[in-house]
Amino acid sequence: MARPDPHSHTDLTQPRQKHLVWKAEVDFAARTIRATATLRFDRGGAQVDLDSRGLLVESVTSPDGGQLRFELGRAEPILGERLRITLPPGVDTCAIRYRTGPDASALQWLEPEQTAGGKAPFLYSQCQAIHARSVVPLQDTPRLRITYEAELTLPAALRGLMAAGAVGREVQGDRAVERYRMDEPIPPYLFAFAVGDLDARDLGPRSRVWAEPSVVERAAHEFAGVDRMLTSAEALFGPYPWGRFDLLVLPPSFPYGGMENPRLTFLTPTLLTGDRSLVNVVAHELSHSWTGNLVSNATAEDFWLNEGFTVFAERRILEVLEGPEMVALHAAVGRQALDEAVTNFRDRPQLTRLRTRLQGVDPDDAFSQVPYEKGFLFLRALEDSVGRPAFDRFLRKYMEAFRFQSVTTEELLELIRTELPGALEAANAPAWIDGEGVPVDAPVARSSRLEQVEKLESELPPLAAKEWSPWEWQVYLNHLPRPAPPELMAALDQRFQLTEAPNPEVLVAWLTVAIRGGYPPAVRRAETLLGEVGRMKYLKPLYAALIAGPGTRSLAEAWAQRYRKRYHVIAAAGVESLLRKGA
Ligand SMILES: [Zn+2]
Repeated sequence: MARPDPHSHTDLTQPRQKHLVWKAEVDFAARTIRATATLRFDRGGAQVDLDSRGLLVESVTSPDGGQLRFELGRAEPILGERLRITLPPGVDTCAIRYRTGPDASALQWLEPEQTAGGKAPFLYSQCQAIHARSVVPLQDTPRLRITYEAELTLPAALRGLMAAGAVGREVQGDRAVERYRMDEPIPPYLFAFAVGDLDARDLGPRSRVWAEPSVVERAAHEFAGVDRMLTSAEALFGPYPWGRFDLLVLPPSFPYGGMENPRLTFLTPTLLTGDRSLVNVVAHELSHSWTGNLVSNATAEDFWLNEGFTVFAERRILEVLEGPEMVALHAAVGRQALDEAVTNFRDRPQLTRLRTRLQGVDPDDAFSQVPYEKGFLFLRALEDSVGRPAFDRFLRKYMEAFRFQSVTTEELLELIRTELPGALEAANAPAWIDGEGVPVDAPVARSSRLEQVEKLESELPPLAAKEWSPWEWQVYLNHLPRPAPPELMAALDQRFQLTEAPNPEVLVAWLTVAIRGGYPPAVRRAETLLGEVGRMKYLKPLYAALIAGPGTRSLAEAWAQRYRKRYHVIAAAGVESLLRKGA
C-alpha cells in the first residue's frame, strides 16, 4: 500500500522523513509561531508529500539556499492540505519557512486570565491524533518516526518546555532561546511543547513536576509517589526507555486527563484532589512510555494497541500500589464506561470493533472508551487463557519485537500465534478484534468492596459510604436508574453533599445522574463547573445530561456558546458534535 494511513498524505514509495530541525519563534500578540522546519529524508531525487493544516508556507529551500518547487494543495476535510515538494537528485534535505495559522488545531493560546496565575499568557500543544501537521509540516503518520532538534524563541519572562531532552536556555535581551533534542525516534503525534510561567519541583532522581508557580506545591504533593510507579512499571516491561519521566500540569482547558508526551507527560489539573486518589492517570501515562511511545499503533485504526495495552499496564501498576480490590473497582467503572460507549455508537456499531476502518472518519470523532476498556478486557481474556507468567513473558517479547516501531493489529496477532499458540482461539479473538460490542464471556471484575456497592442497587448508601473511594461512588452512581427518583436524589445530596463533592470524578458522576433527574442544585453546579474545566471526560457527559434532561437543552446550548473560547479546539468540537446530534 503506497498510502497506508487513511489520515495522512504519506506515500511509502516516496522518501521517508528521518530528522527534523525546528527553529520556532512564539508570538503571543499575533497568536502565531514563525518557524523553519528543516527535514532530512532517507533519500532525495523524488517528490515527497507532507501533511499540513492551515500553515502559511513562505518558501522551501535546499541546503545551498536554492528555491525548491512546492505545491500546497486544497484544504481537504480531516486531512488538511497536502504539501508536495520536489527534492532534486542528490538533495535529501529541505527547509520549509512558514507560519502557523490562526486556528492551528494543535495549539491553544491562553490569555493570562485563563491561567492559575492570571498574569502571563500560556501556550500548549496537543498533537494526537492528527494535529502535528498544524504546527510542523511533515509526514504525520505513526508509521514514520522522526528524531528532532528544536530551538524555541519566546519572551524571557516565560519558560518553554518540550517533550524532549533539555539542552540549554540562553537569554538575549527580552527574549529567551530554549534548546531541546529528541534522539529517540518518535511518531509525530508525540511532538509537544508548552510555554508559560512555569516552575518545577523534583519528585525523585528521574522525575520532576512542572506547573504554574501557584500550583506547583500541590502538584508535587499529589505526584510524590511517581518513583514507586516507575519501579512497578519497569518490573512489568523492563528498563524505562526515555531517560526522564517529568510531568507538566497544564491550565484547566487541557482537553484530556493526560497525554503521554515522551519525557514530559502533560496532565490536567483536575487530578490535584489533595488525596492522591486520581494518580492512576499518571500510571496510565507512564505505561504509555512502553505501550504507545516505544511500540506505537501504526494508524488510528489500531488505536486500541496503544490504549488497551496501556489500561492493562495501568491496572497492573495499581495492583502493586493499591491492591487488587482497588483494581476491581477501577475495572468495574471502566466496564460501565465501555457499555455506555457501545450504546452511544448504536448508529455506528462498526466503531465498537477493536480494529476499525476510519477512511473518511476523523479520529477525534471516533474517540471513545472502546479501544481502552474493550482492549483491556481482550488482554485480560488472553491472560486468563494462558496464565499470568506466560502472558507477562509475551508482553516483554512484544516490547522487544516492535521497539521504536509501529505495529498493526495483524502484526500483533501474528506474534501471538507464534509465541502463545492456541491463545487466540481460547480467548475467542475474532469476536474481540472484528466483532461489534462486547463478547458475552468477557472477564468480569470481582471484589468484596465492589459487591457491597453493587448489592445496594438504588438504595440510599449507609453513612459509612462517607469513606468510599471515588471509584465506589462512581460504580454506585453510574448504576442508578435514569431519571433517578427525586426523593433519592435529595436524600443522597443531604446525606453526602454530593453537589459539593471535591473530587471531580464523584462530582461529575453525580451531576450526570442528578441533571437527568431534573434536580435544580445540580444544574446550578454544572453551570459553574462547565466554565472551570475543559477536560472532555467531564464536559461530554455533563453536556449530554443537559441535552437529555428535562428542560435543560437550551441551557446546554447557551453555556456551550458562553464557554466555547475557554475550551480547547478539540473539546469545543466534541461539545458541538453532541449538540448537533442531540445526544
Ligand atoms: Zn492512553
